[in-house]
This record gives sequence, C-alpha cells and structure tokens, in this order.
Amino acid sequence: MGTHPAGYTEADYGAVRVLTGAERGAYPYANSLLVRGTGASLVVDPSLSLVEGAPPADLVLVSHAHEDHIAGLGSYDVPVHAHERELRALSSPAALVASLDLPSEAAAEADTAMRERFHVRGRPDARGFEDGTVFDLGGRTVTVVHLPGHTAGHCGFLVEPDGFLFVADVDLTSFGPYYGDPGSSLEEFESSIRRCREIDARWYGTAHQKGVIEGAEEFRSRLDAYAGVIRRREEALLEFLAEPRTVEEIVGHRLVYRPHVRGPHVDPVERRTARRHLERLTAQERVTETAPGRFRAV
Ligand SMILES: [Zn+2]
Repeated sequence: MGTHPAGYTEADYGAVRVLTGAERGAYPYANSLLVRGTGASLVVDPSLSLVEGAPPADLVLVSHAHEDHIAGLGSYDVPVHAHERELRALSSPAALVASLDLPSEAAAEADTAMRERFHVRGRPDARGFEDGTVFDLGGRTVTVVHLPGHTAGHCGFLVEPDGFLFVADVDLTSFGPYYGDPGSSLEEFESSIRRCREIDARWYGTAHQKGVIEGAEEFRSRLDAYAGVIRRREEALLEFLAEPRTVEEIVGHRLVYRPHVRGPHVDPVERRTARRHLERLTAQERVTETAPGRFRAV
C-alpha cells in the first residue's frame, strides 16, 4: 500500500490493484482498478485522480459514462471498451450532457463542468461489449457483468481467478441507489442488486468511499442495507401522500437529496425519481390519482 504522487492510494487484492481516488474515492473522485495478466493489462474507470501519473495499460474498461468514472481517460491512448448502451454518452462531452436531459441553463453549467473540471474529451472510438464478454489478459480474465439501473449500460467486472467483483456504482453508500438519470431504471437497479448478491467472490470493490468489502456475507448484509434506502424513499413518499400532492410538491419535499444540497441537477433528479416511485406505487394500487396530476396514498 502506498500513496502515489498523483493522489491515488494503491492496495492489492490478489492481482487486482485498487487505485483509491482522493478523498477515499468520494465524488467527484472515484476508485479505479489496474489488472495485470501475463500477456496484457487493463485499467477500469480511470478517475480524476488518474489525470496525472496514471499507470500504463493496454486497454481501458469503463463501467459507465459518468464523468467521475472517465475523468482520467485522457491519460490513455489505448483501446477503450464500454457497454454498447454507454457508447453514445461516451462519444463526446456534449453527448454526455445531452444524455442527462437537463434544462438549458443547467445543461450549460454541466457542459462547462464536464470539460473543465472533469477533463471529459469524448471517445467516439470506444468499442462496445455486452454481458458476459471476457477479456483474457493471460492467466487472468475479466468478465463483464451487466448491472443496469444506475445507467442503461452500467456494468461490473469479475476478475478471476482472484475472485474480485467490481460493482462500480452499486456503491453501498448511505446515500443509496441512484436511479435519477433519463436512462436509469428503478426495477433494473433492483434486479442488478439481486444479481450482485448471487455472485460469490472474495472481494467486492465499489467505485466510491465504501472501498473494498471482503467476503460474500459482509457484502450481502451491506447490499441489503443499501437496497433498504429504496424502501425508505418509498415509505417517505407514502407518508407525504397522506394528502393529495403534485409531482412538483414531491420534488420540493425531496426523496433523494437532503435539504442543503443545491445544484442544477437536483430538481430534475428528484422529479424523475418521484415519477418512478409514483408509477410503481400506482400500478400496485398503493397510490391513486385523485385528480389529474394529484396523487394520494390509498
Ligand atoms: Zn455513476
């Protein structure tokens, strides 16, 4: 274990080297991986802490096209691979911002942040992979595990024979699962959590401040707590819907962010999250639309 001048910290789990970003990988930073086989090496999710002093690699895998996972991509003049459903957002900073479907002022702000703060350049040359694609590094394989929900093409990676599963933004934080992008899905996120739960590994690496969890038992208990945040949001919504409310009232009340959090993304994310929960609760007949656009718990 050591601190690299560039600002990331190295720790080895079998032959998987975790490059923990600054601030323990909390956003805007993130954790990256370096995996070496006898024939080739690859980096997963080059973060903001790899903008300088990035370790060399023969290829790069991207879990999903969010700025904190691709900020260090400019350090790599090697093939980049991501899920087919991430290639569009990965192609340019403008395409990434467009994928967020923000109101125009917020979009302009996000565009500047992508380019200046996160050094996003776009990789129109990135190649697509799918669930089950195997990268053979020589004596070591990295297998794609499609875990949609956070984004449509969000993926984890299983490194064998080491038994290291990188779960990316199934990140186990107390914030809970994020499914507030246009391409996100609450149901898919839940089934991805179930899929992670079924994979037996020795280590489970997250992309952010929870770092690496050792052992399937510990991972599963943390995963259950993480999934519990979805239930808490649902309960908070049902409580708020004791009286009929509009979506905008729910946005003001907030299900996702705490009251002090400000930013151009907050309202759009709250709105999409509220709609996704309302849609499901309505289908389950636990919420009813009392008048057009007004919802109440049954
Ligand atoms: Zn993300």
